[in-house]
Amino acid sequence: MKIRSARIAMSAPTLVDAPDWDLSEFALIGRSNVGKSTLINLLSNQDGLAKVSATPGKTRLLNFFVMDEKWSLVDLPGYGFAKVAKSQQGLFTEAVADYLSQRVNLAFVFVLIDSRLTPQPIDLDFISWLSRTGKRFGLIFTKTDKQSPARTMANVGAIKAAVADVHPQPLPTFTSSSKSREGPREILGAIGEMLASGQ
Ligand code: GDP
Repeated sequence: MKIRSARIAMSAPTLVDAPDWDLSEFALIGRSNVGKSTLINLLSNQDGLAKVSATPGKTRLLNFFVMDEKWSLVDLPGYGFAKVAKSQQGLFTEAVADYLSQRVNLAFVFVLIDSRLTPQPIDLDFISWLSRTGKRFGLIFTKTDKQSPARTMANVGAIKAAVADVHPQPLPTFTSSSKSREGPREILGAIGEMLASGQ
């Protein structure tokens, strides 16, 4: 599946502001700076669709994109950034929690994880929470070009083992790199299959 058209539909501060439509939604979430905006641009084949923000955690909105006028990609605010006041420093915002636990249109959640890192408590805390919502989700390991394939494999293996402690069921996993442009074929293929099977 290749994206032929992609546009931002709206940015919602809370779940009640989310669009009233019947499109299936596929959400992306991860730590600030994990490469979420870059991946949205890569998936949509449209540089600049998601602004690649220089300030981690700047955007606190739920951003809804319409892909090929058929389905929606939802860019959720990154979690766990350091440059905010302590009072705002929850794992993620209420809007994100509401969206992930209540949104009827939500078909699948992609959790982005930096492939350069060993297992991070913040990612595991989030996955543990997400697992309890019962929503279907998978993992995308980003920035694989930043180290050797062997190092990527070792990190991915260690992270998957740690994830299995909080979510024992097998999870679809993907890798991505903006440099080698890897990822879109498999990720969009999985989305296409879910759309085709009406899941
Ligand atoms: P976001 O905060 O999750 O939206 O992250 P961004 O997409 O803004 O990316 C954060 C930084 O990582 C930027 O400097 C990107 O250019 C860089 N980056 C993102 N993805 C990749 C990748 O796959 N490979 C490399 N080498 N850099 C990346």
